[in-house]
Amino acid sequence: MGFDRERGATLSFPQVDRQRDEALSSWLARIARVHLLDLEHVEAEIGCRVCLVDHDPGEAVIRRVAQRTGVTPEEVREALHPLATLSPPLNGELDWGVCPQCLEADREAGGPLYIRTDWTHPLVTVCLSHSAPLVVPTADQWRELTGDTVRPSRQDLLLAQVDCEPLDALIRAAQLVAGQTVEGVSARQLEQEIADLTDALGVQMTRSMGQGGLLTLFEQPRRGRHIRASSLDLPDQLLTLLGPADRLLFVRAALALRWPSDGYAQERAVLGDWFSRVVHMAVPSARRRVIGDQALDPLVLVAMALPPRPFHQLRRRVTTWSKDLHQRWMVAEQLSALAGLM
Ligand SMILES: [Zn+2]
Repeated sequence: MGFDRERGATLSFPQVDRQRDEALSSWLARIARVHLLDLEHVEAEIGCRVCLVDHDPGEAVIRRVAQRTGVTPEEVREALHPLATLSPPLNGELDWGVCPQCLEADREAGGPLYIRTDWTHPLVTVCLSHSAPLVVPTADQWRELTGDTVRPSRQDLLLAQVDCEPLDALIRAAQLVAGQTVEGVSARQLEQEIADLTDALGVQMTRSMGQGGLLTLFEQPRRGRHIRASSLDLPDQLLTLLGPADRLLFVRAALALRWPSDGYAQERAVLGDWFSRVVHMAVPSARRRVIGDQALDPLVLVAMALPPRPFHQLRRRVTTWSKDLHQRWMVAEQLSALAGLM
């Protein structure tokens, strides 16, 4: 075979056309299938793991993919999300999330099932066409997408409950990264803010409030979930260490913190009640009045629940946040100081 030729278009025949909005990893997986190659072989050809190509693979890999598949580098770039800059997950496997309705539409149209480029951005957890959560592919879908019967073992228990979630914040996030900027703030900046908030949600909460990661404060009252803490200090880019299901859980909460949206407002009754109970438990009675209704900004709950060390670690990052979030944090910080929790 021609696989040892330095610049050979070894993956170009039989020709597998990329679908217009198909992710690079998805296209390569379909090429592998048609060429009766396993993914490792395709990876050796392109010089990159297929599970990593959707996340800023670099010019050398883009050129190599173009050479091997017989298309132009521009065509390869079209398969990449223009904003997918966060580091890829480290668990080293394809972490596709899929919209079952889109795949069903593929099937009905008689074309191949494929992963959309839009779905590869770390902040995208819903399909904008159907306003439906992206979920881990079923065994059947996986087989059709990759031709492989061995599916990476994934924990998908949490995703099963996503149907009941208010999706507004998630849809908003997907819309945001579909464009370049929002209200003068760059998408990269927003990503960083979401990553910082995610890090905060993974910290062991202050002991007077309970056990577990800070995210527990938001998940326990609504869904009865206890979330294990990832560390005592503020982690760095926790998002990149999480599997798809956990990432969705954390990103969803971070988004609700970043943009307390209409969907979040519907939950105020529940969360507000929970918050009063927490305040009642943790704040001296003479100080409760100060907190009042303002405390309904969920960011206040974060400020109050962070132990001193991670609190100050987060504070150092807050200076890089955009203006509106920074201002909300300052209020949260004052309230938590008044509450006597720092
Ligand atoms: Zn869809």
